[in-house]
Amino acid sequence: MFAHNFKLEINKIEDIVQIQITVPWAVKYVSVYLFKVDDSYVLFDAGLDMGNWPKLFFSALKEIGVSIKEIEYVFISHEHTDHTGLMRRFKRFNPNIQIMMSEAAHETLKWETNPDNYDELVEGAKKMVQQVISYGIDENQGNRLIDWFTMWPKLRKYHEPDRLLHDGDEISFKTNKLKVIWTPGHALGHICVFDQNKKYLFSGDHILSRITPHIGNFLVNPEIEEKYDFEDILKHYLNSLNRIDELNPKIIFPAHQDIIYNPHERIQEIIAHHDRRLREISSVIKNKPLTPYKISLLHFGDDLDEMNSFLALSEVMGHLIYLEKQDKVKRIEKNNKIFFVS
Ligand SMILES: [Zn+2]
Repeated sequence: MFAHNFKLEINKIEDIVQIQITVPWAVKYVSVYLFKVDDSYVLFDAGLDMGNWPKLFFSALKEIGVSIKEIEYVFISHEHTDHTGLMRRFKRFNPNIQIMMSEAAHETLKWETNPDNYDELVEGAKKMVQQVISYGIDENQGNRLIDWFTMWPKLRKYHEPDRLLHDGDEISFKTNKLKVIWTPGHALGHICVFDQNKKYLFSGDHILSRITPHIGNFLVNPEIEEKYDFEDILKHYLNSLNRIDELNPKIIFPAHQDIIYNPHERIQEIIAHHDRRLREISSVIKNKPLTPYKISLLHFGDDLDEMNSFLALSEVMGHLIYLEKQDKVKRIEKNNKIFFVS
């Protein structure tokens, strides 16, 4: 999973430099963007701290001819490992750099990376697994997920941000502004950043060119669960997509895969994809109650590995909860198992 032979490419798209480094996963690349707003250098995302990724990243800066000490701001799109990797090094090499992330990303990262919370994290993971078993996953597979839930936080890096971002915040420069849009869905703390003058959108994992990002809800932090109502995560995601579409971006710069030159079309495609999935899930359980896991097997096939079969289940749950909130499906509990029917 964590092969170390990454490859670097530096691309220039209009005024934006894309530092694109391959990864051996389906998303193919992790990209960090470097650009100038008036006199200030800005980075979007902090990449991955794995194998020779950091070395390649800093060699890219050298090749471009910009020192980390010259960079004023770094936006963190969301709390996942491949977007936060180098922020501690950035701060070490340049104490003046301003690390900025959403409040929800900060709360998630801070909680998950604090060793004092480890027991609570394991408890949360166990509770989550009980729920997943009630959705129909095999008990042994469920128990193996505990390791998976508790492994990710260990890979994450925390550094206190210099500025917490909220929806609608604007970072002002001499003649331009960067606008922050909170786009929960793929991750709770996800933000996109919009250059108002150039109509560039930095989308993180919110909008990708070829795959639809995973939408699911597997929180294990009780404080965050209490503070935000994210149960209907697909609704948040679709709202977030519509808000981006309304900005009418000219080019989308995503953290993985290809640059998107037809933002409106791509956003509509992703919305249509979820509509289709909602309809398909509804029709599979028409007058025929099934567990969410069974639905995910019918929808995604049964040849997925354990991690992906959990992600498929989580994706299906996102859609079922969305349908349930609209009274289009009903939840039935029987012998400690949950079934849905439409
Ligand atoms: Zn990512």
